[in-house]
Amino acid sequence: MNLAYRWFCKLDLDDPIPDHSTFSKNRHGRFRDSQTFRWVFERVLQRCMTEGLVGGEGFATDASIIKADVKQQRRVAGDSDMDWGDPEQATRPIREYLAVLEETNDPKPTPKEISLTDPAASWTAAAGGFPFFAYSTHYLVDLKAGIIVDVEASAVSKTAEAEATQTMIERVEETFDLKPERLVGDTNYGTAAILGWLVDVKHIEPHVPVWDKSERKDGTFSRSGFRFDAENNRYICPAGKFLKTAWRSKKKNPYRYRASQQDCQSCPLKVQCCPNMAQRNIDRSPHESARDVAPAIAKTDAYQQSSMERKKVEMLFAHLKRILRLDKLRLRGFSGARDEFLLVATAQNLRRMAKRLAVKAPKAMVIPA
Ligand code: SF4
Repeated sequence: MNLAYRWFCKLDLDDPIPDHSTFSKNRHGRFRDSQTFRWVFERVLQRCMTEGLVGGEGFATDASIIKADVKQQRRVAGDSDMDWGDPEQATRPIREYLAVLEETNDPKPTPKEISLTDPAASWTAAAGGFPFFAYSTHYLVDLKAGIIVDVEASAVSKTAEAEATQTMIERVEETFDLKPERLVGDTNYGTAAILGWLVDVKHIEPHVPVWDKSERKDGTFSRSGFRFDAENNRYICPAGKFLKTAWRSKKKNPYRYRASQQDCQSCPLKVQCCPNMAQRNIDRSPHESARDVAPAIAKTDAYQQSSMERKKVEMLFAHLKRILRLDKLRLRGFSGARDEFLLVATAQNLRRMAKRLAVKAPKAMVIPA
């Protein structure tokens, strides 16, 4: 292996080799903000495009959680008054974390636990499992040959999934002038906000199941029991009465529809509708019209095809963890996670391209007797 490295680095057999710390010093100091890994990722992607492996018609998106390189025990409660000490003396991940806090001054919800080794990592738990510190890697994958067209690192959260997808779609369009006709994803991408952005802003078909939290489980009428009358901007309830954004007051919430108190008080269906309230309210998202588009697409054959194609991105994550063994990060801090995710996605694209373009070895020559 050392000979192979020497050959690759154009070093002779007796040339001195760099000190091992050169690599980490360069990575942390000289190249951290140089976008070198993104540059490499994009050059490999460009080659995949040149070889005709990227169709650009359909993209799939998904995220996977990767454990951070931290000791679980070295942590404090998120609401504790943590003194991080002198930033000059702190480790690199802590310096980065403090710099981001200072720069964004972002009032994000307080995390439940903060790692003392890598404070940017998220304290998270898979359903039913033990909690741990982790980052999310997000992929945007072209469905023609399963080439990764973008990758993004983030904290572990549902909001981050939507934000990362928007960032990746915008970046791929800006960098490569590529915008898909359809986006395939799971329910996490079916919120009203992201559907509205896809349909109204980007004009991309959302091949995703709608994330609808309006279904009630207590036996009372869900929002789906109320019909929206778009022409008159009102809902019609199961008793045939109207819910409007305002009855008398002009100080109205344009997305909250209310029934008349008088109608509800005398309604025989009140117990099934709003037993604990004077009248029924329905909240409508500003992106509700976009949310109507996804269920219509879900009835088509194209959607069934998309659901099967979604496996391409799931398989890439399985490969990432089982074959490339990236079930735990080796680098710390947000920038460490970003660098590692970019490198591994580059390796997956190189591997996919090599497999697709490999020239079949010529058959053994038969020498006539
Ligand atoms: S309680 Fe009010 S909103 Fe509900 S069904 Fe009756 S009239 Fe309609």
